[in-house]
Amino acid sequence: MTPTPQSALAAADATSSSALPPTASRYAALGQPFHQPVQPTPLPEPALLHFNTAVADTLGLADVGALLGPLSGNAPWPGYAPLASVYAGHQFGVFVPQLGDGRALMIAELHDREGRRQELQLKGAGRTPYSRGADGRAVLRSSIREYLCSEAMHAVGIATTRCLSLVGSPQPVVRETMETAAVVCRVAPSFVRFGHFEFFYHRGLHEHLPALADHVIAEHFPHLLEIAEPTQRYAAWLREVVARTALMAAQWQGVGFCHGVMNTDNFSILGLTIDYGPFGFLDAFQWDHICNHSDDGGRYAYGRQPQIAHWNCGRLLQAAVPLLGEDMDAAVELARDIYHGYGPAFSDTAARLWADKLGLKDIREGDAELMERLLALMHDSHCDFTNSFRKLAQIPSTAPSGDTGLRNDVLDIAAWDAWVADYQARLQSEGNTDDAARAAAMNRVNPKYVLRNHLAQAAIAKAEAGDMGEIDVLMKLLSRPYDEQPDMAAYAAPPPEEMRHIEVSCSS
Ligand code: AMP
Ligand code: MG
Repeated sequence: MTPTPQSALAAADATSSSALPPTASRYAALGQPFHQPVQPTPLPEPALLHFNTAVADTLGLADVGALLGPLSGNAPWPGYAPLASVYAGHQFGVFVPQLGDGRALMIAELHDREGRRQELQLKGAGRTPYSRGADGRAVLRSSIREYLCSEAMHAVGIATTRCLSLVGSPQPVVRETMETAAVVCRVAPSFVRFGHFEFFYHRGLHEHLPALADHVIAEHFPHLLEIAEPTQRYAAWLREVVARTALMAAQWQGVGFCHGVMNTDNFSILGLTIDYGPFGFLDAFQWDHICNHSDDGGRYAYGRQPQIAHWNCGRLLQAAVPLLGEDMDAAVELARDIYHGYGPAFSDTAARLWADKLGLKDIREGDAELMERLLALMHDSHCDFTNSFRKLAQIPSTAPSGDTGLRNDVLDIAAWDAWVADYQARLQSEGNTDDAARAAAMNRVNPKYVLRNHLAQAAIAKAEAGDMGEIDVLMKLLSRPYDEQPDMAAYAAPPPEEMRHIEVSCSS
């Protein structure tokens, strides 16, 4: 919703209903050395450019406009002292021992309407002890991308951080060009990353690992508290983290999402998609598509994402070895076993997910090959990823296939016809011949609308000129990604030629 401009008002009334009592379960209660108190840097002339009514509702925040002070970093959230946490991480495969919230500040911990814990974090609220010489700010461009994409991901059922608000300011920020500052308020049950554990492991501060793990388990995996023996409890927890990470990676592949910076400091301990930077949704399908202009080697190319997510689990498990018992050999062996759980977890999830995308009820031998042949055809002909799966839903289960549109998109018609014949045979083999029902089911898992780069770019250009209308349009459109929304069909089209190669880098 685009709000009318509001001045900063007292926030107490708007927040009191959902404030979390100051119990030991709060992240803040972990204290040092996990985080430090840091005041946000005031943001000049803040304006609430947009806020997310769905998230505000979830949090029971009646009047987001009245929260402009806390949401811009210009006033405290009642009853909470802001803090920045320390972490490390493997960036592009190289360990960086000192990272942390360089421009993010936790400003509140709340309970949502369902009683779940939610943390609120400002991104771009100024320098912290972890800023490493950078300015602590975020630009409007990247803030809009994060704001829109996190909501688009949520709507396609991928666990993610979300955004409550987007606040802009005329304050200049230097990137490749001069831009202006913005602050998003991100919301998640936890912002703990793999890198938080890596920090304490690689510094030799192993004595702090149990406190962090215990906090995460107590707050976010409470069913594991039943396991009394610590090693077994930590192992069970790590198995769940690995499974959630595998699920996230499989879901990214299924929706054609490229994260762009899969560093371990950008990997959530809850398996949430976090840190939207140079991400991109596939337009033309290419296995080796690289969405991050700064990723020269293609480390984070689309086709490599599942194995990188696995590698990242390895980095987490390395850092967690001290939690897995006093006998080092046995602990490493257990970590290795958990690490090897990624493969089956990923394969099982991916098999079901791709079967759903194809409209198949069962999972059978040969399905993976059928899928790979389809993707090879799409790759060779640069077919639009999102639209291809919508078109697939139109293929009838019995010959003749008729022209579904996809046949016009591929270059190798003979290979296409052979594939369709095999697909139809596969459908018939499981009695999957109610074509309307299959199409409806496929359209419930294959989105029609995703946040294509050129759509985000158009919203950014308008916002930079002072018009938030396109952000509003995209928020509404992307909250119903599976619905036909016929009057919005232009938003499902691949980018026009001149918008096909928008370069998105780490600069944000
Ligand atoms: P990212 O590439 O955004 O995941 O950031 C990697 C690390 O750099 C994190 O520790 C960030 O907090 C930090 N960082 C990125 N941009 C800035 C900035 N403009 N000011 C301060 N720290 C930053
Ligand atoms: Mg990051």
